[in-house]
Amino acid sequence: NKRIRIKEVLAMEPEQQEITVMGWVRSFRNNQFVALNDGSTNGTLQVVLTLGEFDEALLKRITTSASLKVTGTLVPSLGKGQKMDLKAATVEVLGDCDPEQYPLQPKNKPSLEYLREIAHLRFRTNTFGAVFRIRHSLAFAVHKFFNDKGFVYLHTPIITASDAEGAGEMFRVTTLPMEGAPTTEDGKIDYSQDFFGRSTNLTVSGQLEGELGATAFGEIYTFGPTFRAENSNTARHLAEFWMIEPEMAFYDIEDNANLAEEFIQYLIRYVMQHNADDLAFLNQRLLDEEKQKPQAERSELDLLQKLQFVVEHQFERITYTEAIDILLQSPHYKKKKFQYDVKWGIDMQSEHERYLVEKHFKKPVIVTNYPKEIKSFYMRLNDDGKTVAAMDILAPGIGEIVGGSQREERLDVLEGRMRAIGVPVEELWWYLDTRRYGTVPHAGFGLGFERMVQFVTGMGNIRDVIAFPRTPKNAEF
Ligand code: ATP
Ligand code: MG
Ligand code: MG
Ligand code: MG
Repeated sequence: NKRIRIKEVLAMEPEQQEITVMGWVRSFRNNQFVALNDGSTNGTLQVVLTLGEFDEALLKRITTSASLKVTGTLVPSLGKGQKMDLKAATVEVLGDCDPEQYPLQPKNKPSLEYLREIAHLRFRTNTFGAVFRIRHSLAFAVHKFFNDKGFVYLHTPIITASDAEGAGEMFRVTTLPMEGAPTTEDGKIDYSQDFFGRSTNLTVSGQLEGELGATAFGEIYTFGPTFRAENSNTARHLAEFWMIEPEMAFYDIEDNANLAEEFIQYLIRYVMQHNADDLAFLNQRLLDEEKQKPQAERSELDLLQKLQFVVEHQFERITYTEAIDILLQSPHYKKKKFQYDVKWGIDMQSEHERYLVEKHFKKPVIVTNYPKEIKSFYMRLNDDGKTVAAMDILAPGIGEIVGGSQREERLDVLEGRMRAIGVPVEELWWYLDTRRYGTVPHAGFGLGFERMVQFVTGMGNIRDVIAFPRTPKNAEF
């Protein structure tokens, strides 16, 4: 198999060299010109079949999405629009594709909604080709960023007995048989027997285990799937999503915010450098979409300009209290345009977050020091006794993209808060051991990977940036 990827071919100089390529037909014109794509790029290589050299039976089999192996010579193109042609010597059809049945014909531009119904085939479109090559690049850049900084990649468990974050969002893991499961005294299925005699769930976050790693290695990160049984149908929630969770000993909340900002800018820069073609394609796609809107509603900057802006400007930093004040004084609030009420103590809704980033600051915003009532037990209590050292990062077009905090390292304060909110202190004895044996100030955050991919690609719906979205309506493929 001496095949060369089409991406590499397109970067070559056509000097009569013989090469072999393999891929899928994007289009076939005049019984002569095949646009061949192999997934390495959105670009196609023009394969030219000299008229009369190939028999009818073969030509009939060259249909959209049929797979081909072509050997030929690479020559400068006589036509406009491409630098080179592959003048075919031999063409082999590896797999036929019946044009009557194939749902992705080049003439009809399929909508994203339609493509979600055929998610098993959508990688073959230019849009999803670009999105998933960028997603791959981002994943690689995540590891590169942390590896270069000396962080240890810790694999935290998917199945866990800890219910730390709590509150009904968990998927239960069970080994119980569908019939004849053990029951409690009142005849109900005994779910405490789920996992060989105890109760377990799919993880909602690797943080608590991450803290165990950070208090030994100094700096760790996790990058894995997390699960939340959210029976909601928003454009930014999935039941199964990937999260990146760094956790750092000896960091305070400001160090934490600095790292998160540097990380996000690094990821964007990485994609701008390594996926310029795919980004340009998605940018054009969005520009075409914008043209459908009335002038007044069109965005001032295009996707590339927005990304450039984000890497060149510091994120805004405000406290939760300042955020609420801004909202209360906004013309939006005065004209009663928010659906949900604004007052100190609320858990900000997406409309509030988006107002702050999109209308007020017009850049990403880091909000810190939230009321303790709306945040988790492990966040560090501030001296005011009312707020905790929490940190959310809000991004234009998305809203919350990062949630993090400085953790409560003082055993007595932590235990006090746990008891006050009813978190089982005894069950989390292993977690509290980090505070018993050489406790240190530490902090961390979780970046929702799909939200980051949305941010970079400009895709409006989170279902379009994960290969196989898991939502209340989607579990097949
Ligand atoms: P939201 O307010 O959007 O529901 P959250 O506050 O519940 O998010 P966290 O528990 O703070 O989320 O999780 C950390 C990060 O994980 C979030 O900032 C977000 O980027 C991402 N995230 C959370 N829930 C989901 C989900 N259901 N699907 C995709 N990403 C998610
Ligand atoms: Mg949530
Ligand atoms: Mg939130
Ligand atoms: Mg959050």
